[in-house]
Amino acid sequence: MKEYKVVILGPGGVGKSALTVQFISGKFVEKYDPTVEDFYRKEIEVDGFPAILEILDTAGTEQFASMRDLYIKNGQGFIIVYSLTSKQSFNDSKLIREQILRVKGTEKVPIVLAANKCDIVGPQREVTTEEGFNLANEWCVPYIETSAKNSTIVNCLFTEIVKEMNLK
Ligand code: GDP
Ligand code: MG
Repeated sequence: MKEYKVVILGPGGVGKSALTVQFISGKFVEKYDPTVEDFYRKEIEVDGFPAILEILDTAGTEQFASMRDLYIKNGQGFIIVYSLTSKQSFNDSKLIREQILRVKGTEKVPIVLAANKCDIVGPQREVTTEEGFNLANEWCVPYIETSAKNSTIVNCLFTEIVKEMNLK
């Protein structure tokens, strides 16, 4: 059965763990230890084929910058997460992609851009849909607005990265 090594990258607090735990267990956890970094495995079906996902939820607490390089080297597909409530995290996502391309040495890397916390509306929003969509277009990758509270959307996110990995 085909295995897919997926790495979840993004600055702290954007919801990487909440998305991962929602996908793995179908539950939204309000508080998750921000320093926890772990591997998870789950089997899903994508386009009629079984896929085993091996997911690394990173914590950004790597003591050495080279640690993240190592995660990227070992990973095959990447979900770059930012929060719609943080412009800073949106800007950080650009640096993360640059690091991925540098480490992989190619532009042909399966990436999905996830704009998380889409359940939050109003003045707390700092990034527009258009900004996220335009960035993803520039990168030629899928753009998905996610909420770790919504299991359907979260399942779509992981299905999407598998599809990208089948393509690239
Ligand atoms: P990480 O550091 O990227 O792993 O972020 P966490 O998963 O620990 O989430 C950081 C905070 O944001 C926690 O308080 C979560 O409950 C909250 N959070 C994560 N995802 C969402 C979301 O989609 N919507 C809302 N409203 N809160 C979220
Ligand atoms: Mg976390």
